[in-house]
Amino acid sequence: MKEGFPAAAREALANSQLRRNLGHATSTIRAKRARVVGEVPDWEALREAGAEIKDRALRHLDVHLERLEEAVTRAGGTVHWARDGAEACAAVAEVARAHGSNEVIKVKSLASDEIGLNEALERAGIHAVETDLAELIIQLDDDMQSHILVPAIHRNRAEIAQIFHRELGVDVSDVPAELTAAARAHLRAKFLSVKVGVSGANFAVAETGHVVVVESEGNGRMCTTLPEVLVSVVGIEKVLPRWRDLEVMLQLLPRSSTGERMNPYTSIWSGVSDGDGPREFHLVLLDGGRTDVLADEVGRDALRCIRCSACLNVCPVYERTGGHAYESIYPGPIGAILTPQLRGLDNAPTLPWASSLCGACYEVCPVKIDIPSILVHLRGRVVRETGTPPTERVAMAAMARVFASRRAYEAAQRAARFGRGPLAGAALRPWTRSRELPEPPSQTFREWWRERGA
Ligand code: SF4
Repeated sequence: MKEGFPAAAREALANSQLRRNLGHATSTIRAKRARVVGEVPDWEALREAGAEIKDRALRHLDVHLERLEEAVTRAGGTVHWARDGAEACAAVAEVARAHGSNEVIKVKSLASDEIGLNEALERAGIHAVETDLAELIIQLDDDMQSHILVPAIHRNRAEIAQIFHRELGVDVSDVPAELTAAARAHLRAKFLSVKVGVSGANFAVAETGHVVVVESEGNGRMCTTLPEVLVSVVGIEKVLPRWRDLEVMLQLLPRSSTGERMNPYTSIWSGVSDGDGPREFHLVLLDGGRTDVLADEVGRDALRCIRCSACLNVCPVYERTGGHAYESIYPGPIGAILTPQLRGLDNAPTLPWASSLCGACYEVCPVKIDIPSILVHLRGRVVRETGTPPTERVAMAAMARVFASRRAYEAAQRAARFGRGPLAGAALRPWTRSRELPEPPSQTFREWWRERGA
């Protein structure tokens, strides 16, 4: 974290164009999601089932991962175990190098962004070409993603047309068809010539060794079928025990993410097969801090996440600050609980406070992650493990003294009425900077009670 959430959010809040773009985009996706979720009579039962499947996978993660490795190997694939991002990046670079490729084509993948794969490949002399439209916009503009599902949500069409004009040298208007045609012309040559494809995965099935990528543009299908070699970088929490678990997940994910009944493209493959798709398949299983998250009995529920982004779209904090303020590839409510756990609390201590705890994220989460409870839990851990900020410690000690004595409490109430007490003191200034301090009533309950002679 370069600045921490409060400073980064303050900067983002000054950008009114960003707020307009975000407000428009999130309200549109919210409405679509609500409509298609409302059509499913057993939606709550589906959510229960989704949570139960992910819990079962996480409870015996070691067993399922070994079953996955066996199944992928049996189907002709190669499994690489990566303890951290560096090992995962090295495995991908090694495969590309072994095939003499100085370029790879990529499907949108949060895991690869999390480990900085593009930058690591660039250092190894291999250029990664993003093929998802929004990821391409981000890459061309040397920008950073600000939403899990719609990485360029902070850009409007006019801004995108300018980026294409500047970086691709094409003259396009802000009409969506023209923008996509320009991207298509740029990418088509890459799909047909680059030998190595890189993907992430939404799910990996332990029982059968199948890897699943869902997407909307068809670029994922191209990347996973046209190249000679395919490498998939997958977080270990993406494993599902059984093939039939997909029945639940593939209903929950599209409705919660894009607000569609089903995905336009769902690619499912296992290993390699003669005359069909890549000749070589590598599965890189990434830990990257996930086993540490698993060790936290409360925080581990964050590993259920299927990256649908529904929690971002309903979050009043995200809607105003946008994704960059979270300084992580995982923004919004899920980022506030996942990033500090993956990076370590010391490296993201302010994120658990990036929430109003309104609970909207919990209500929409398709796998029922109780994000507010995890936020409160992580706040406690930050205070215990990294030390309470001195101002807060002093304020809390003063409050404890006031609340421990009736006389001190009544004196504080009287003082607050005149704006002099601890409630209006310097300790609360960071809080009152962005909120109004409630007016103390002209009469306390005790005074009112005494007045009646009780
Ligand atoms: S926490 Fe839940 S709502 Fe948020 S992205 Fe993950 S699965 Fe979706």
